[in-house]
Amino acid sequence: MKTAAGYVESLRQLKLKVYMFGEMIENVADHPIIRPSMNSVAKTYELAGDPRHEELMTVTSSLTGKKINRFTHLHQSADDLVKKVKMLRLLGQKTASCFQRCVGFDAFNAVDSTTFEMDRDLGTEYNQRFRSFLRYVQEEDLTVDGAMTDPKGDRSLRPSEQADPDLYLRIVSKDEKGIVVRGAKAHQTGAVNSHEVLVMPTIALGEEDSSYAVSFALPSDADGIIYIYGRQSCDTRKLEAGSMDAGNCVYGGHEALVVFEDVFVPHERVFMCGEYRYAGMLVERFAGYHRQSYGGCKVGVGDVLIGAAAQAAQYNGAAKASHVKDKLIEMVHLNETLYSCGIACSCQGSATASGTYLIDLMLANVCKQNVTRFPYEIARLAEDIAGGLMVTMPSEQDLRHPEIGRYVEKYLKGVAGVPTEHRMRILRLIENLTLGTAAVGYRTESMHGAGSPQAQRIMIARQANMEHKMKQARVLAGIEPDK
Ligand code: SF4
Ligand code: FE
Repeated sequence: MKTAAGYVESLRQLKLKVYMFGEMIENVADHPIIRPSMNSVAKTYELAGDPRHEELMTVTSSLTGKKINRFTHLHQSADDLVKKVKMLRLLGQKTASCFQRCVGFDAFNAVDSTTFEMDRDLGTEYNQRFRSFLRYVQEEDLTVDGAMTDPKGDRSLRPSEQADPDLYLRIVSKDEKGIVVRGAKAHQTGAVNSHEVLVMPTIALGEEDSSYAVSFALPSDADGIIYIYGRQSCDTRKLEAGSMDAGNCVYGGHEALVVFEDVFVPHERVFMCGEYRYAGMLVERFAGYHRQSYGGCKVGVGDVLIGAAAQAAQYNGAAKASHVKDKLIEMVHLNETLYSCGIACSCQGSATASGTYLIDLMLANVCKQNVTRFPYEIARLAEDIAGGLMVTMPSEQDLRHPEIGRYVEKYLKGVAGVPTEHRMRILRLIENLTLGTAAVGYRTESMHGAGSPQAQRIMIARQANMEHKMKQARVLAGIEPDK
């Protein structure tokens, strides 16, 4: 397995084409805006080497029998699924941000079971191709960007009906060596911190859209792949001197628009090529796994936010107020409810035909539906407890200023004995999580990541078995016998 330092070093070897603020970035690994997100992924390597976390962070590979980082594993039991959620909560607590590596992890598991069933039904050889790719990922302990979301253009039109056919990623040509693809994947979490990209279709597809039914993996610096780095609220604070105003001085997350400009993929790296009937299955499984993930990572970040709110209350003398205590209890209740859903959908997981375990889809969708709501309420309560100073206080430079610094120090003081700087740092952390760079992961991603709320409601409706519920009601109301 790689160490954290080995991971960062391996990224330096990549020749990624990354653009930010209209310029190509020369040194991606040391860029002050990107680096915190790299630190978060590096944490997935660091904790795997820590004996205290070995049980959660590492596992024996079902493919090679060797010890691997859990982020590269195919789940072999419900216990593996539970451990995944616990691992993500731990990492959320350690980074208070999105640590990015789960998307590829979820993609591995979804692609494995789907390609297995494709091969069984169609006589193709996608699963063995995929597993040899995954063996390589496990051996090298790689981070992989699981790339699903297409730009989608006009949402009322199917992929092939779009004015621009590239608004969904598609196969543009094919020969005996491989395929050429064109399109883009939007909102790609951790793309710039990944060694490989694993592409999947974004929606269920019909025959007319078979050229959009494509899955493959490529090195992230393959010819024709371009990254356009996504902005985050308050991102340029990371360029400022000092460590306070960024809120979280070490960790972060990132997303990028990834463009595929006529990119060649050799056949041995192609895992779906026109089999449109299986696109829906792959999407549903990947989304299910990532909806489970949020019952871990968002809960871990929530733990930090709750802790920060409690700390802020202590620093300004409000900790003993009964309404503050009650608000903190409410935050914990909401946070643990999310965790309960993540654990429940894992415990109820079952084996697919390939042997790889899948979460309970109903409960994973309920988990994510709650995630579209509860972090907002937790953030609201955190802002309530933090007070307005969180968004009106002066900068770190003012605190350090030789003349006016003493005024900041004096008038922003809370409880005597607590340094003003500590109070300011905690408020900046809450600001970061609720309004700053980490709000991407904690708020808007909670809404739209792994599918927007309506996507879960469709899945909940599909799994609801309403006919069964109606029958139970008819039986108990004496309308029909129970048989
Ligand atoms: Fe992992 Fe959560 Fe980030 Fe998704 S949002 S990549 S599950 S940390
Ligand atoms: Fe996500």
